[in-house]
Amino acid sequence: MAKNNEYNKVSVLVVGAGPAGLACAIQLKTKKPEIDVCVIDKSAEPGNHNLSGAVLEKDAIHRLLDSAVEGWQDSDTAKDVLGKKVKKDNVMFFLGRKMSFNIFFIIKLAKRLGLNFGQMIHEGDYIVSISKLTKWLVQIAKDVGVEVLPGFAAADIILDESAERSVGVRLVDQGVDREGNKQPNFVEGEVINSSFVVLAEGCDGLLTEKFIEKAGLQRKSPQLYSVGVKEIIQVSSEQYKKFGDDRVIHAMGYPIWTPFVGPGMFGGGICYPVEDEHIAVGMIVGADWKYCDFNPQDALTNFKNHSFIKQFIEGGTVVEAGAKMIPEAGFRAVPREPQTGSIGKANVLILGDSAGFVNMLKIKGLHNAIDSGMIAADAIVENLENPESAAVRYTELIDKSAVGKEMESAKNFRQTVAKFGPLQGMPLSIFGGLLPKFDTEKDFEAMTIARYRLKPNQNFDKDTFTAVAATEHREEQPSHLTIIDSEICRSKCTPMFGSPCITFCPAGVYETIHDEVEPANPSNCLHCKTCQRKCPFDNIRWTAPEGGGGPRYKRM
Ligand code: SF4
Ligand code: SF4
Repeated sequence: MAKNNEYNKVSVLVVGAGPAGLACAIQLKTKKPEIDVCVIDKSAEPGNHNLSGAVLEKDAIHRLLDSAVEGWQDSDTAKDVLGKKVKKDNVMFFLGRKMSFNIFFIIKLAKRLGLNFGQMIHEGDYIVSISKLTKWLVQIAKDVGVEVLPGFAAADIILDESAERSVGVRLVDQGVDREGNKQPNFVEGEVINSSFVVLAEGCDGLLTEKFIEKAGLQRKSPQLYSVGVKEIIQVSSEQYKKFGDDRVIHAMGYPIWTPFVGPGMFGGGICYPVEDEHIAVGMIVGADWKYCDFNPQDALTNFKNHSFIKQFIEGGTVVEAGAKMIPEAGFRAVPREPQTGSIGKANVLILGDSAGFVNMLKIKGLHNAIDSGMIAADAIVENLENPESAAVRYTELIDKSAVGKEMESAKNFRQTVAKFGPLQGMPLSIFGGLLPKFDTEKDFEAMTIARYRLKPNQNFDKDTFTAVAATEHREEQPSHLTIIDSEICRSKCTPMFGSPCITFCPAGVYETIHDEVEPANPSNCLHCKTCQRKCPFDNIRWTAPEGGGGPRYKRM
């Protein structure tokens, strides 16, 4: 299809081969086989950059597969990817390093009483690896005629002269050395022209954020993020049997929140079965943490050492690891066009985590990502002759859908917790829509000189973490991480906060070299984008490296 740096025009270009983008592409080709649909992804192989909890509600994925693949439930891949269901739903409260209480009965009671908290039930959901799910959806997409192009990193979204609609996407230049000089193998970033552009890049998408700025979209409330770090641990067969392949654990409290004495952060730990003798352990922490020496990996260490978790994983070997951010601020942080309220604008539609369709009351967003993909496809099919109306139609359908309804029900939750802290905020959020709307600061503004009092004795082994994330980038390319003003690091951040990027980056990318903080190891980057959202002086920018770089998750 490529002609030098200009592509033939495609009907629909989807940026991001995650569940949202692939659901959109599959649904489009299922409903309108004659249109050409192209999905690009910056990873070397789709699924490599997808990391999630992941407990998946069945309705959305069933609807997608029922319409696209006859008899899908009988395939070996379906049995592998969707073979586990939650039967033991452990919602735990950890008090200190040893005490644990199963509070699932409170969640059940809340459900019976019709309270918002009742949404946090996972019984009957699939326990999935999102990397595996993505790879499966890619195969289905190809089978129905979608062109999936891995290794294609998008650099920018191109608008027409009026800035009212997009004409396509420009890819990252290839073959530039560290200093920015063109090498003999230089290839200028191609332009892919398209009638519709679907932004499904996941959390904090590069093109999505550029488009929001260029097209003047607005959020009613700033997006709030959490940072998730996760490890897959090979354990003994006895430990795996004891855990079971139908149990999920979601734990609140220690080590990120303890009544009265602190720390006081939002989030919790997770523990899921992966496959025989492998268990996933993770820690998700609201990025509005205030401790300048805090690192979610330290909290993960403490979580793994809690006696309830330790029994399942002690002596195990970490075989895979990764990190990502999650958009948590809910419906009020969805970017909308101010006049029409559309989620996107004209022929540009924003889906899934890029839009922020994560319901933190459920701690889930995957079902909404898939649903939003299918809804976007429906809106595009209805407007093939009138692309400028697609975003408005997409938004009408979203607002009426299950996605809109559940996002509406959870709309004040995260802001209430951000405003009052977990101790008062969680119970207060029961009143949901009855509460006034709280303004929240951006995550990076929450940093203080306070210290995390549960810091483990040993520094986290980031080298091993990065090695098992299997991240790779071509070394001889410009750094995709930029510190905007080094003087701020020298004169403000280092004396005040001790250069938090060095501590919180999960891959050890930032170091002090000759008294200067630098993104010294960009090739270790896991593309989590935490640094861009948590640098206390908003002093870091993340751009897309050459396509094909980044982590290589297999079972995350
Ligand atoms: Fe501080 Fe940001 Fe500079 Fe790192 S890049 S030292 S976090 S100001
Ligand atoms: Fe994440 Fe930034 Fe570190 Fe890359 S450099 S792993 S985006 S925190």
